[in-house]
This record gives sequence, C-alpha cells and structure tokens, in this order.
Amino acid sequence: MEKVDFLIVGQGIAGSILAVKLMDAGYSIKIINEEKQEISSLKAGGIYNPITGRKMVKTWLADELFLNLESFYQELEIKLSARFIYPMPIYRMFGSYEEQNDWSIKISEPGYKQFVEEMKGKSIGLNGVKDEFGGLMLKKCGYVNVPDLLTACRNFFIHKGVYHSEVFEYNELTVGVGINYKNLKADKVIFCEGPEANKNPFWKDLPFRLVKGETLEIITELPEDMIVNKGVFILPKEGRYTVGATYDHNHLDHTPSEKGIKNLEERLRKIYGGEYQFVKAKAGVRPATFDRRPFIGFHREQPAVGVFNGFGSKGVSLIPYFAEQLVNYLRGDGDLMPEVDITRVTK
Ligand SMILES: Cc1cc2nc3c(=O)[nH]c(=O)nc-3n(C[C@H](O)[C@H](O)[C@H](O)COP(=O)(O)OP(=O)(O)OC[C@H]3O[C@@H](n4cnc5c(N)ncnc54)[C@H](O)[C@@H]3O)c2cc1C
Repeated sequence: MEKVDFLIVGQGIAGSILAVKLMDAGYSIKIINEEKQEISSLKAGGIYNPITGRKMVKTWLADELFLNLESFYQELEIKLSARFIYPMPIYRMFGSYEEQNDWSIKISEPGYKQFVEEMKGKSIGLNGVKDEFGGLMLKKCGYVNVPDLLTACRNFFIHKGVYHSEVFEYNELTVGVGINYKNLKADKVIFCEGPEANKNPFWKDLPFRLVKGETLEIITELPEDMIVNKGVFILPKEGRYTVGATYDHNHLDHTPSEKGIKNLEERLRKIYGGEYQFVKAKAGVRPATFDRRPFIGFHREQPAVGVFNGFGSKGVSLIPYFAEQLVNYLRGDGDLMPEVDITRVTK
C-alpha cells in the first residue's frame, strides 16, 4: 500500500496552490480530481484588486494579501515554465465630483497610497469610456488566467506522478488516526472541492452561500493593458474582453441566462459607449460562505479530515496567502486565523 503525507481532493485553484505549497515544504502528496468544465476556477475572471466595491474600500487583509501576491504567481510561472499572471492597472472611474474630492484627500493616506498609481482629475479619453469626472489608476492589480494556471499545475503534477483523474468515492474512505482510500494511506485528506463540498459527508453542512456568476465575452476597441471598472469590469483577455460579473444566489446552475446577459449589457452601457460585438456568455458558481470568510482546517471528531475551501469571489488573491498559512500550521509553525478556522462553524 502506498503512503503519503496528504491526499488532496480537487485540483481547482485551491487544490493546485495548496498542493504546490505542500510539495515545496517537503511533504509527499497525491491529488484526486474529477476533470470537468463546470468548476469555479474555469469560469473565473481571475482579477485581483486591492480596492473594491461601490464604496471603493480596501479589501479584507489587503495589506497582507497583496504584499507577495504577484511575486508568488511570477515564481510559480518560472517553476512551471508557463505564463498566467498579467499585472495591469485598473482604471476605476469616479461617479461624481464629490467622489473625486473625497479621493483627493484619501489618496495620501498611507493605507491607500500603496495601491493608487495616480488620480486622474478629468477624462483620459479612452474610446467610449464614460469618465467625465476622471478616476483612479490602481496598482498591485491585474488578472491570473486561471485555466492556464490549472493546466500548467496539472502537467507538473502528472510529471511528478502525484495526479489521478477520477471522482473521489467517499464510501472508499476509512478514517482513523490517518486515512485509507482504496490502496492509499495518508496522514490526512484535505478536501478542496469548491462549490461541490455540499456533497461531501464530512463537510456538507458547512454554511456555504454559493453564488452564481455570469460574464460576457465581447470584441471591442479598448486598451489591452488596462482593466476598466465601475460597477462592471472590462478585462482584456486573449484578444477579447471579458465583462463581469453578476451575483445570483437563487439559480445555482452553470448556464448563462437571458437575465444575466441583459443585466451585464445594461451595466456595461452605463460606463461604455463604444461599439462592441457580443461573442458568448459564461456562467459558474462561486464557493462563497455565510460570513464571506474561507473555510480552513480540520474536522472536530476526525482530525485527519481537512477542508480548504470557501474562497468566494476572491480565490486568486486569498488562496496563496491561506495555503501558506495552512502549510505553516501543519508544520506546527503558527495558527490558523480565527476568522477562517473551520472550528468557528463546527463548535
Ligand atoms: C463568473 C465568475 C467570476 C469569477 N471571477 C473571479 C475573479 O475575477 N477573481 C477571483 O479571485 N475569483 C473569481 N471567481 C471565483 C473563483 O473562481 C473561485 O474563488 C475559485 O475558482 C475557487 O476555486 P476552488 O479550487 O475552491 O474550486 P473549483 O475551481 O470549483 O475546484 C474544485 C475542484 O474539485 C473537483 N472536485 C469536486 N468534488 C470532487 C470529488 N468528489 N472528486 C474529485 N474531484 C472533485 C472539481 O472537479 C474541481 O476540479 C469567479 C467565479 C465565477 C463563477
């Protein structure tokens, strides 16, 4: 019987990055993953952005998350001989002179300064972009082409002989001090199943708050080295533009809807008057949680069973940081942050 330190279930962006970090720390692993198109990571815009939302505030843990984020992905590109991170500014237009005024003060606050490249006091004249009040040019942002990252990681795992393409069968799992699965023994199994955790007998009761998201692919005339954003983002990707995204808690399927497409087109028209050609729509489900914080840690009764999930709409920026934290925790070097520790919901 083969023995490894960790069995990872799921090779979306969560399982991929956790696996790489565990291997880097010297642990032996195996990955079991069902390969299919309907997974969150294959639908992601992949944007990372420290200042978000209608009110433009720093995202949770921005100072910590964004410190080494780009260098993490860039080093992974070198390790895997692949290209998937595209750092580029986000141009966030102001909606009024009042907003512009507020930012002329806020921009010099130390907390924000590090994320703002420049404040534009008037339109920068991009084709069709509605920016009469100017806007902020944000830095430490860009996007990760998540499908390309998954392919590169999968090739690496196959090359290392640690990857199995199959559906994990829960009834083949026995749990004691460690775990046995078919002809494999491991100290622990860590489930990284994204929105499908609700089928897992150990984690099905976790208070996920899954949310469907839709995006459009369009062809238009805009810069290829900048993301435009206000209420909706326009992301240049592989010669086209992705427009996103919607949030729908009620219809958790993977099919683009007329309502979703209409909603995105209306929001696009509010910020963009240029000509465009619709190519297609995409839909997916985000593994979001009741309190918008990830689910990380180990089962109370079965400490050999773990979970690394719940990254919602921010997988690209949260996963590298928390994979590192989990690996340190497993090494006995630090705790899990109480806000993400799964024991907060399994008490
Ligand atoms: C429309 C949309 C836009 C988004 N935009 C962004 C964005 O701009 N920026 C950002 O950071 N995030 C974005 N996200 C969120 C991001 O996609 C998620 O945070 C991330 O992909 C979650 O990754 P995951 O690995 O946890 O889950 P998944 O990607 O779903 O991966 C889970 C994996 O586990 C496998 N699996 C599940 N159960 C089993 C089993 N029993 N046996 C074997 N394998 C199994 C699945 O097949 C899959 O391969 C977006 C999501 C959507 C839907």
